[in-house]
Amino acid sequence: MLKIALDLDGVLADSISVWLAIWNALKGSSLKLEDVKSWDFWKELGITSGEFHRIFYKTWKNWQLIPPTEPDLVSKVSMLEELGKVDIVTSRPKNTREYVLKWLERHGLGKKNILFVKSNKSELDYDVYIDDSPVNAEEIASVGKYVALYDRPWNKCVKNTDRIKRVMNLEEAYSFIKTHVLKL
Ligand SMILES: [Mg+2]
Repeated sequence: MLKIALDLDGVLADSISVWLAIWNALKGSSLKLEDVKSWDFWKELGITSGEFHRIFYKTWKNWQLIPPTEPDLVSKVSMLEELGKVDIVTSRPKNTREYVLKWLERHGLGKKNILFVKSNKSELDYDVYIDDSPVNAEEIASVGKYVALYDRPWNKCVKNTDRIKRVMNLEEAYSFIKTHVLKL
């Protein structure tokens, strides 16, 4: 059975919008999602990784404010489950886990398998990944696995290859996996 790793931040949860709202309130700035053009955008803001993660923690502490990336996640995840075993796989600091579980519950995904990882996702036992990280995408493809790259302003630099396909939504991820990976 095909094993699918479904990412959380940037793919199911639009957490960066809340991160930016906190940042904008702190700094009196008006950064928008479209302004986040690179994976390590916080470096351009002149902050450390520690400061990025402090705001990330605040973001998830305010989990009620985090919108889903697209409507009706429950039926879209169910659709993906027609193709194989789907786990929600997220790499993050431990201190946000309880908020993640609440968010998933709120959005009808509380019963799904959720895997909190620290390691490189490409080393995990999955055949296909739905992810927004340009770093993960390149690593996963380099070990010969497939990536449905969830379109975000910070991954525009990644080109489609035989292993990586940019998708605009979860329905496109479903089609990619069905036709290109399973070749149905
Ligand atoms: Mg992500």
